[in-house]
Amino acid sequence: MKTAKLLAPLLALLLGLPGMAQTDSTVFALLDLTRPGLEEVARYHAAGNDPAAADVLLAYFRNRTSVRCPGVETDAPEITPDEQRWADEALEHRFFVHSGYQPSYFYGNDIDWQYWPVRDNELRWQLHRMKWWVPMGKAYRRSGDERYAAEWCAEYLDWIRKNPLTEYDESRIGDWTSADNVYFAWRPLEVSDRLEFQIHQFLYFLPARAFDGEFLLQFLENYHRHAEHITRHFSASGNHLLFQAQRLLFAGAFFPEFRDAAHWRATGVEILNREIRKQVYDDGMQYELDPHYHLESINIFFKALQMMDANGYRGEFPAEYLTTVERMIDVHLNCSYPDYTTPLFSDNRQQEKAHLLESYREWLTVFPENALIRERATQGDEGCAPGYLSRAFRTSGFYVLRNGWDNDATVMILKAGPQAFWHCQPDNGTFEIWHRGRNFFPDSGSYVYGGDSAVLAQRNWFRQTRVHNTLTLDGRNLDATDSKCLRWETVGGTDILTVENPSYEGLAHRRTVWFVDRRFFVIEDVAAGEAAGRVALHYNLAEGQPEEELAAGRVATRFEDGNNLLVQVFGAEAAEPQEGWVSHVYRSRNPRPAYAFTAEKQPGREVRFITVLLPAERPAEAKIKAERRRGAIRVTVDGRKYVLK
Ligand code: MG
Repeated sequence: MKTAKLLAPLLALLLGLPGMAQTDSTVFALLDLTRPGLEEVARYHAAGNDPAAADVLLAYFRNRTSVRCPGVETDAPEITPDEQRWADEALEHRFFVHSGYQPSYFYGNDIDWQYWPVRDNELRWQLHRMKWWVPMGKAYRRSGDERYAAEWCAEYLDWIRKNPLTEYDESRIGDWTSADNVYFAWRPLEVSDRLEFQIHQFLYFLPARAFDGEFLLQFLENYHRHAEHITRHFSASGNHLLFQAQRLLFAGAFFPEFRDAAHWRATGVEILNREIRKQVYDDGMQYELDPHYHLESINIFFKALQMMDANGYRGEFPAEYLTTVERMIDVHLNCSYPDYTTPLFSDNRQQEKAHLLESYREWLTVFPENALIRERATQGDEGCAPGYLSRAFRTSGFYVLRNGWDNDATVMILKAGPQAFWHCQPDNGTFEIWHRGRNFFPDSGSYVYGGDSAVLAQRNWFRQTRVHNTLTLDGRNLDATDSKCLRWETVGGTDILTVENPSYEGLAHRRTVWFVDRRFFVIEDVAAGEAAGRVALHYNLAEGQPEEELAAGRVATRFEDGNNLLVQVFGAEAAEPQEGWVSHVYRSRNPRPAYAFTAEKQPGREVRFITVLLPAERPAEAKIKAERRRGAIRVTVDGRKYVLK
């Protein structure tokens, strides 16, 4: 055997048979052993002494200083109490898979990687992201306790053994809930996640006793299989493709020793350069129209750049790439509230402020001249808010009506964009209003993603048009989601926005918002077209017990801090409470007051509602009148008259 291995390259050279040089099926064949520093590895391997070659290779990696992974601190890394707990629980095979499923499940003494206690796809997929492994690495580095390392190595090898990469064709899955294990364990998004975070694990555990030469070979072979799997199974579009490209690039930058590393980097760079032009609208918003994936996309583009920079691969992203990333950041910061919360539109969920601040500080290092990033990153200590207030991102349909940037501000963010995808809900025209630290109309959120029919039913409840602050026909979901902006201007001190959506066959919904003197809001909704049926205007309020006077079209919040809001609707024939829920984070939901103000629509006739949304200390006492007369909306608020055109 030894002789054959020695002779094969020699014979190949002599006989000119390129195929023979590839008879080396060991992990060493995946490495470019001509690289400086690997001479001794090459010598031992050529001599057929792979155990010695592995030991030398391990020493090489332990001493390697030429490659960096930004964000990984191996000397006494910080660990949160949650991470420490996940690391400790993992020693007993209680694995932190998903924050929506707590406490963590027990996966068996003999780990069952197919255990699926709740048929939510995320729970099955995300098991294969092993989110507890990086915390174990940190715990190991902080304590020097070899048990974490031994357990990680054991789990790593156990996973390889029980989750082989067999034939993989995602287009043939059909029903996910009855799919073979390989489709969960080797779904390209999960594979890409492992590519990124196994770099962290590699760095943390590298000095451990359990991380020996033999383990290193298994690790490298598995890691290489991951990267190659990605190159053959890229998602067609969307954030999955971005994640895969960024993480393949990471693999190529972190392990330049692989013969395929340059190809991985080039492929990642090429996809990101192509997709940033495709997936980001000219106004800076990522085309899934989901604040969560918009932020994720920024960080993908950003991390790719950082990783390449940190390892000396410069000039591979054109200046235009950076300009686009800064434009995306601009959208994100404009579509955020002063208290660092973001609208719960689409599949967004509450973002941790600490996590956001971390991103902002990273962004600041690349865009030090950007005063708004600086202001946000330093929580107001440096930098400053922009000179403008309201902002329209017209291509993607995000409209921000704002009277300030500080905690006393009033901010409406309205969503009315083009058709989007899976993460985007049929919610055109909906909005949130944030006023002095309270979100009076938090979007219903998403609650869960996909899974079996029970899980999908939960998801679908939160996706309904009627659980958004917009207009429906017979309570149905919108047939069409493709809004156009008809007007965006400021007259006097009043911001005015008109958007129109071809909501149903035979019904267009035109919504005009006046941010009157940038103090309160008046909304006119017009449902026009041939369709007939019950038209409803929906308002879903913040958790709490408002004062209802539905016969008069009024609902007033009554928070004890005096930060309140009145909703008064004119033009409805009836009003009634509705089922209302809001989900700020995955798998968690709170009941909340919700209402439908309705009117019967005859074929060809218009239905028109006027709503006044008035922030006030004691809104129940406010006296409001509103009507459309002689070409204008005429509103009276506590005796003061406004004419809105
Ligand atoms: Mg929603």
